[in-house]
Amino acid sequence: MKTIGLIGGMSWESSAVYYKLINQRVHELLGGFHSCQCIMYSVDFAEIEKLQREDKWAELDTLMADAAKRLENAGADLLVLCTNTMHLCSEAIQKAISIPFLHIAEAAGEEIVKGNLRKVGLLGTKFTMEKDFYKEVLTGKFGIEVIIPNEQEREEVHRIIYDELVHGQIKGESRERYQAIIHNLEKNGAEGVILGCTEIPLLISSSDVNIPVFDTTRLHAEKAVEWIVKNS
Ligand code: GLU
Repeated sequence: MKTIGLIGGMSWESSAVYYKLINQRVHELLGGFHSCQCIMYSVDFAEIEKLQREDKWAELDTLMADAAKRLENAGADLLVLCTNTMHLCSEAIQKAISIPFLHIAEAAGEEIVKGNLRKVGLLGTKFTMEKDFYKEVLTGKFGIEVIIPNEQEREEVHRIIYDELVHGQIKGESRERYQAIIHNLEKNGAEGVILGCTEIPLLISSSDVNIPVFDTTRLHAEKAVEWIVKNS
């Protein structure tokens, strides 16, 4: 079996979900005693979060490229970066390695296109919602129109991720805020919503909202396993 290399720890709460999902999926597809052959390089999120806050993306590029290189050297055949936000560093990562890199926004885009949706809402950190690196994959590669919450809602979505979700805190009132924000996206024409932060699925699931939900953690994990099974 080929080996998945995962850059994790951003946060470990969602990396633990990735680990579970890739193993479950391998077992579903291959049965028996099969589980996922993988290596995770898990960072100290304190260092990452500080550099994000200070907008030091060149330093983050270097850290992510180094993590990717370590995984390639350790024998990974496919690189999976277990966070949406840090895909801001995807160019630096791809330059550093020669194994394939599975972009999380492409995993979401493929599924949205399959569902025949044209316009979707995007929830994630402020970096993911406000910068271009994520939306441009969805729009440029898949022709999907992406809308984001208003400024005050973006602040709230971001705050709940960093103050609660990455610390494993799941609160009913935050779920209600997310539901209201998703409802506003729906009112603005969103036919579906991308949970574009790997911790958001800890808070929101498809049963909480009326429109289709694209859980990037699950989609990314499943695409990684599909690649491994196809290429092994
Ligand atoms: N896991 C989150 C994401 O998918 C946020 C944490 C981070 O900044 O990496 O964007």
